[in-house]
Amino acid sequence: MSDQRLDILPRQRAWVEVDLEALAHNVRQIRGLLAAQTDLLAVVKADAYGHGSIGVAQTALQAGATWLGVATVMEGIELRRAGINAPILLLGSVHTPAEIQAIAQWQIQPTLCSPKQALIFSETLSSGDRALSVHLKLDTGMARLGAPWTEAVEFVQWVQRLPHLTVASVYSHFATADEVDQTLLWQQKHCFDQAIAALRAQGICPPCLHLANSAATLLDSHLHYDMVRVGLALYGLYPAPHFRDNPDRSLDLRPVLQVKARVTQVKTIQAGMGVSYGHRFIARQETRVATVGIGYADGVPRLLSNQMQVLVRGQAVPQIGSVTMDQLMLDVSGLDLVEPGEVVTLLGQSGNIRLGAEDWAMAIGTISWEILCGFKHRLPRVAVRSTVLDRSLSSNPGCRLPSVG
Ligand SMILES: *Cc1c(COP(=O)(O)O)cnc(C)c1O
Repeated sequence: MSDQRLDILPRQRAWVEVDLEALAHNVRQIRGLLAAQTDLLAVVKADAYGHGSIGVAQTALQAGATWLGVATVMEGIELRRAGINAPILLLGSVHTPAEIQAIAQWQIQPTLCSPKQALIFSETLSSGDRALSVHLKLDTGMARLGAPWTEAVEFVQWVQRLPHLTVASVYSHFATADEVDQTLLWQQKHCFDQAIAALRAQGICPPCLHLANSAATLLDSHLHYDMVRVGLALYGLYPAPHFRDNPDRSLDLRPVLQVKARVTQVKTIQAGMGVSYGHRFIARQETRVATVGIGYADGVPRLLSNQMQVLVRGQAVPQIGSVTMDQLMLDVSGLDLVEPGEVVTLLGQSGNIRLGAEDWAMAIGTISWEILCGFKHRLPRVAVRSTVLDRSLSSNPGCRLPSVG
């Protein structure tokens, strides 16, 4: 694991706490939505959305997931090297002989997106290799990876005729499952169903069909098919507010990750003095400033400068001035003596307040996925015991970020 070298100094400057009990809880919650025969593929790409792929993969498998999904060959190899034997689906698309040979060697199951790519795979594999299970992707409206759904029959028949390959599943991916308007989602499902019907008419019954990401999994069991591919919800976040706020669809998902850091210096500045690069914060009155050892090189977006709050002893205090590469400043005037070494919470819960990746995402116009993936390897990942989270707190207005201004 590439972050192991950092683990000799956990909980020192800044770190990510990963609650694997919360993860297991989320897996069980999601499993509870699925029919018994439906498989749960835990998407652990991008180092499990910043949570650490090995711990997450092991926990998810113990809690009821049966497949793992990765984006790159190296991500798959990292899991195999850790001794994980579960089937691994490579969601990305690869072409080079070196990657194809690695896939065969480490028994990672690739996604194939065109007849030509399938031919390259078949020609690269030697007859000594056992048949490689492959997953055929259809494009039903995302326009990213996959053969056109209208060509499903030709594509599948082509792959079936090639040596060294076995079709393990046919799948597609939604473009808009997290939007309020579901029109496109159902159109995509319709295209997928038509492609499957065309295959069946030719006597082809793929052993596994799958279509749903987190949003589609939470939305409707008609979208589950034989397997669902769940990322974000595993990590305890809802794909969009309407998933969390709709009582019909609400699950009890618990955030898995918290980001913490220590105060490194505390000082008092006078009215009129500026803080941080560009002096984008000017003190209106005498202000107690706490410097914290975490910055944008750790994954705190610089766009949050002057627009985020940080939890100190269960109280939300404003971050002030530009977020710098390795450090940021807080206004702690409202608190009793804060000392260097004090631990503050950037994301997570402290007292009655929870700050979530979704709050940061909303404040800077991005999505929770990008916030989670942004936490860099220089933040050690520390496993923690479950913090008992009170569900009612997630909608506490106290956790709202201050408005821009
Ligand atoms: C990343 C990914 C997922 C998981 O998406 P979430 O919205 O995080 O659940 C599922 N399927 C594919 C093909 C993906 O690339």
